[in-house]
Amino acid sequence: MEHMHASHDLILVLFSYVIAAASSYTVLDLAARVGEAKASRRWKWLVFGSVLMGMGIWSAHFIGMLALNLSVPVKYNLLKVLLSIVVAVLASFIALATIDRCRAGIRQMLGGGILLAAGIAGMHYIGMSAMQIGIMYRPGYVVLSVAVAYAAAVAALRLSLSAMAGSDKQGGWRKLCGGLVLGAAIAGMHYTGMLAAQFVPEHLYEDMSGVVLEQKWLAYLIAGGMLLTLWLSLIGLSISRRFSHKDTEILVNEKWYRSLYEHNQDGILSVDLDLRIIGVNPAASRITGISQGILQERSLDFFLNIVLEEDRGRMHELFSRSFGGEHVSYETTIIHQEGHHVDISVINAPVTVDGQVVGTYVIARDVTEDKRAKERNHYLAFHDELTGLPNRRMFNQLLEQAIETHSGKREPFGVMVLDLDRFKMINDSLGHLYGDMFLKEMSSRIRNSVVNENVVLARLGGDEFALLCRFTRKQMNATDIAESMIAAVTQPYHLKEREFYATMSIGIAFFPYHGEDPVQLLKNADTAMYEVKKNGKNDYHFFSEELNGELLERLELEGDLRRALERDEFVLHYQPQVREDRKAVVGVEALVRWQHPRRGLLSPGVFIPLAEEMGLIVELGQWVLREACRQMRRWHEAGGPLVPVAVNLSSQQFHQYNLLEEIMGILEESGLAPEYLELEITESMMMNAAISSEVLSGLAKTGIRISLDDFGTGYSSLSYLRLYPIHKVKIDRSFIRDIVSNKDDRAIVAAIITLARHLKMEVIAEGIETREQLGILLDKGCREFQGYYYSRPLPAHEIAETFLLAARTS
Ligand code: C2E
Ligand code: MG
Ligand code: MG
Repeated sequence: MEHMHASHDLILVLFSYVIAAASSYTVLDLAARVGEAKASRRWKWLVFGSVLMGMGIWSAHFIGMLALNLSVPVKYNLLKVLLSIVVAVLASFIALATIDRCRAGIRQMLGGGILLAAGIAGMHYIGMSAMQIGIMYRPGYVVLSVAVAYAAAVAALRLSLSAMAGSDKQGGWRKLCGGLVLGAAIAGMHYTGMLAAQFVPEHLYEDMSGVVLEQKWLAYLIAGGMLLTLWLSLIGLSISRRFSHKDTEILVNEKWYRSLYEHNQDGILSVDLDLRIIGVNPAASRITGISQGILQERSLDFFLNIVLEEDRGRMHELFSRSFGGEHVSYETTIIHQEGHHVDISVINAPVTVDGQVVGTYVIARDVTEDKRAKERNHYLAFHDELTGLPNRRMFNQLLEQAIETHSGKREPFGVMVLDLDRFKMINDSLGHLYGDMFLKEMSSRIRNSVVNENVVLARLGGDEFALLCRFTRKQMNATDIAESMIAAVTQPYHLKEREFYATMSIGIAFFPYHGEDPVQLLKNADTAMYEVKKNGKNDYHFFSEELNGELLERLELEGDLRRALERDEFVLHYQPQVREDRKAVVGVEALVRWQHPRRGLLSPGVFIPLAEEMGLIVELGQWVLREACRQMRRWHEAGGPLVPVAVNLSSQQFHQYNLLEEIMGILEESGLAPEYLELEITESMMMNAAISSEVLSGLAKTGIRISLDDFGTGYSSLSYLRLYPIHKVKIDRSFIRDIVSNKDDRAIVAAIITLARHLKMEVIAEGIETREQLGILLDKGCREFQGYYYSRPLPAHEIAETFLLAARTS
């Protein structure tokens, strides 16, 4: 038997390989999508991919057939041709379906390889059998061709797997290699199979059954098959590209969301419907103090357990609402791992996928600082910082509320205004630091003396307090309250190793009798308080209508006082100081008077305290000093006698930082020598030893004389008499007044005189009115005197005429 010579057209061979490789590449690309696709779409991908691949393989195969040049024209059996297409598509389907499963292991891959190889080989030999020509097969080559098909199939599966696993860039290359190898497998199998075939022309018409296809028609079929392949490839590629575009988009989006999650300042927990915490960001772990690892995968209860117990029930309800699709926001407090409380503001945002709630985000913000700041601001807005008591604003609010509730019942309640006596002096002489300490102490004493839920103590400012007593009429005993407060304040106060005795003045007004609104009530309580001050302080007083008139008077006087200096309404009167044994004037004290335009001559007792309160005393004091120095200088120039003038200094003046310069300036201006100026100060000004010793020694160095006024009435710590440069002690008028009848006063005066003499100080007794008083004092050894017995304080010209002129001539 003669075998027909068979050769291959090389271009067509190449062409068939390119088709096999190209369709393999597209399929591998698609295979990756199949792997990622959801179950519902997976089938569509499989069918689409296997038609594409099957058609590709088949076209490549039949082009290979066309490449075969046989010396006789060959016809084909259509049924078998079609069957071979079906087998190719089936084989491809199996291959694609296996690729995914091959991930499981080597055995699955080898098994898949068998199926794929069987498909390719089946297609090949069915296709060959479609040829209407006698073929004899060489068994060795047939086995080889199947082996090649198998080896190539396994290699292709392996390559496509790694193509799917690699990174984008690697994947691209691997897919390309996979395509080339798979193409080679198909081509290799085909051409090995062809080697196995020996064409026998005698057997040409052996089997002519079925529909026969001319070679030309086969070419058309292949062309059609190729077009279909091409078309499918194009669709496949574009879909694939769209997918990969979508993939990158999804990837980028995911990165954005991740970053938002990871770097968010708010803590975020993702909780699924099984109440598990499936996601935790770093901020959540910072806010709770629990590490991400520990929170992750815990049940929601683990989180709820760190929430304050009273909030847990409410939180359960809020979570179920958010699982129902509702956004809920709330505030709660959690206990940080380290034990402190953290206030958080939380939003539960439900997460929906395809319209179904699958869980919720718990977004928590740490608002502890904000909350504290808010509370602190609120506190500061309504409380006094120094004492912690309610301030004026809060007091007014409480007062308004009390008025509202008591109006309905027409039930009275009391309002008290409290003012510490002489606080200004303590503050001026000890400094603000000690002044504050003093105030704090006094406020807590007052508060502790009236601990009752119906009583509110507030600090209105400075040393002024107010008390709201919301008692019913039956319960109310304002007198008791006022007395216990005064008693608490008057306990000695120890400061800087000394004892201070504070006192307090209280004014009381009742709603509704003394006012029906906060302003009126406070004003009237204030008026009553001033009445106490006027009458010697340290007491309480109820408001009465008569007081209103006095208040008006006081207000009027304040207004007038402001203008008095400008209008030059002050005058000085002088009172002589006499040395009894020589019957001579040894000095004069300058005492200020106010020539009021309507009320006539006012004594300093009326306006000096007012000037002190209004801060006008320093200016007034300067005027007095200047006027007194000028006047004395004029008298000296007119012929004397060369005696000093005594000027009273107020506490505020004494604590003036530039007092010394001020005085020296005035002395220079008037031309009076310093030794003719005597400054009268009181014991209370010397409470702060450091300040007073500096001021006093500064003054004394210049030659100015210092005289201690009202001696015996103040704190009378005799020790400082030794410490300071004091030239003269003035025994207070109060001891002289009853000296004739009162033994004790006599003893005190005698002691003061002895002490002063011992310390080499001069002594003068003031307020001498009678011969008897003078007699006793002379007897005790006092030599200098001042008082009505000699003369009342007189205007300058009168004193000159009555006393000074006489001294000149004598
Ligand atoms: P003071 O310094 O103790 O002055 C003595 C006061 O006793 C004067 O009252 C005087 O008129 C009064 N007086 C004198 N002799 C007698 C007497 O025999 N019997 C009675 N019953 N009183 C007598 P005045 O002028 O009303 O001054 C009262 C206080 O006002 C003074 O007490 C002084 O502390 C203060 N004062 C007076 N002028 C000034 C001043 O220019 N500056 C300052 N800061 N205070 C002044
Ligand atoms: Mg005086
Ligand atoms: Mg005096």
